[in-house]
This record gives sequence, C-alpha cells and structure tokens, in this order.
Amino acid sequence: MSDRYALFGHPIGHSLSPRIHAAFAEQTGQRISYQAIDPEPDGFSAAVREFRVGGGAGFNVTVPYKIEAWRMADELGSAAQRAQAVNTVVCRDGLLHGYNTDGIGLVRDLEQNLGVELCGARILLLGAGGSAAGVLGPLLDRRPSRLLVANRTPSGAAALRDRFKGVAGLTSAGFDGIDGEFDLILNATSASLVDARPSIPRQTVTRRTLAYDLMYSTRATPFMVWAKAAGAARCVDGIGMLVEQAAEAFFLWRGVRPSSRPVIDSFGRRG
Ligand code: NDP
Repeated sequence: MSDRYALFGHPIGHSLSPRIHAAFAEQTGQRISYQAIDPEPDGFSAAVREFRVGGGAGFNVTVPYKIEAWRMADELGSAAQRAQAVNTVVCRDGLLHGYNTDGIGLVRDLEQNLGVELCGARILLLGAGGSAAGVLGPLLDRRPSRLLVANRTPSGAAALRDRFKGVAGLTSAGFDGIDGEFDLILNATSASLVDARPSIPRQTVTRRTLAYDLMYSTRATPFMVWAKAAGAARCVDGIGMLVEQAAEAFFLWRGVRPSSRPVIDSFGRRG
C-alpha cells in the first residue's frame, strides 16, 4: 500500500506538483500517491478532514489556502511562523505539522542551481502577498546588504517589513519609491498571471542583474521580457523554486532527499 499525499488549491488543474512528486517517488523508490484536490468554496477544512480520515499522510497547500492552513496547523515550523503561511503539512500522531518550504526552495534554486551569492547582494523583492512573505525570512537569513520590499499597495510592503523589524538593510516602498540598482530582482507579484508586469524604474537593472519571476510559464513572462530589454544579465522563471520547494516537502514527508536538478531540467527552465 502506498502512502497518500495531496495538493489542495484552487484553481489547480494545471499544477505541475503531481508530476514533480511522481518523479521524486520514482527516483527514490518511495511508494506514494499524490493527487490534486480542488475543494468546494469554503470547503478547505472539510476537505482536509476527509483526507485525514482516509489515511492521508501529508499535503501541500497553494493559493488561496496557505493562510487558512497556517491557522489550522497544530504545530508550526519556524519558516511557517515567520511567513504566517503554510504550504506543506505533515500529518503525524493525530496532529497537523505546518511548514513553509517556499523560501528555502527559492534560496536553494538561487544558490545551488543559479550560482547566486546572496550574502552582500542588493535585492529588490516585488510584491507583499503570500509568496513574498514566504521568501523574505530565508532571504534575510543570507544577510544581503540591502533588501527593498516594494509593492503596488505600499502599506502591504510596510506591513511585511514590520514583521522583520530591526533587520539591517530592510526597507519598503511603493513602486514609485524604488531607488538604486539591484543585483537580484524577484517578481513575487501575481501580475504575470494576467500577462502584466509590475511597473518599476528601468534604472534598477544593471548588466549584472538577475531578474527572477516566481511564476513559471511555458514562455517568458512580461517581467522577464522587460528585464531583458532593460539589460539584465539573466532572466529566469520560477520552475526551479517550484521543484526545490517540492523537494523539501518530500524530504519532510519521507526523510529522503530527492535530486531536484534532473526534474527541473525535464521541464526545461525558461530564461
Ligand atoms: P498573492 O495573491 O498572495 O499576492 C499577490 C501580490 O501581487 C500582491 O503583492 C499584489 O499587490 C501583487 N499584484 C497583483 N497584481 C499586480 C499587478 N497587476 N501589478 C503589480 N502587482 C500586482 O500571490 P502569491 O504571493 O501567492 O503569488 C505571487 C506569484 O508567485 C504568482 O505568480 C505565483 O504563481 C508565484 N508563486 C510561485 C511559486 C513557485 O514555487 N515558483 C510558489 C508560490 C507562488 P497588492 O498588494 O497591491 O494587491
């Protein structure tokens, strides 16, 4: 009998997570099943209950349920506590153990797959939603020299900054308050989902800048196209983060670390 895992979200039809976990399971010889579950509106907690009663061993959570999962968890890992959002749950001893693997997934992709030195880097983080909250703590742990959180709604960026009060080099702004040049620009807005891009100054980009869109796509996103035209050294999408956050979830569930590189390569990274 294989252990049951799932992804809860809405909409979820095009999720790559079932393919990623199937690849990890095959690679490591683990016997698991992994299904995508799209609950009825307001039906997340009932769907989770049903999944647990059916013997579910753990699950991932994506938009729009990450905050509800954070509230529902009995125990929280430190990254989930800081993010106030949960994307991975381990069902153990009758309890829900909530984690957030988005940040470590992004940091691993940047450092291990893309060779980025985060310590001392000047980072511009665009967006203040769930994914920005998930990645901010792990990015700050790497001690960048500057990290500016910029959001369309400036108060959202300020509220996120305030969760990390006292961290040197951390500031916030609206898009029109962005100043200076950056080594790394992360698009953690959902603008790409509607084929738009955050409107930020061209002067933020230098010939050494890596422009990274957290969204993954079969074609370059408007943000990537813009950054390339502005002269960025490299523009990539978020498939590496997606696979790396899944690898961390797989490790939390199975105690085995899969190799993520061949899985990222199998999707063909954009950029
Ligand atoms: P949220 O809905 O939580 O946050 C959305 C953010 O985008 C807000 O800051 C919002 O600003 C901003 N925004 C929305 N539309 C626009 C626009 N047209 N122009 C500028 N800013 C805009 O989304 P998430 O944080 O969960 O997801 C953001 C992106 O990250 C998505 O593209 C998602 O696919 C991707 N993602 C990728 C992951 C991966 O593993 N690769 C993991 C998680 C997310 P405001 O506050 O002003 O409304």
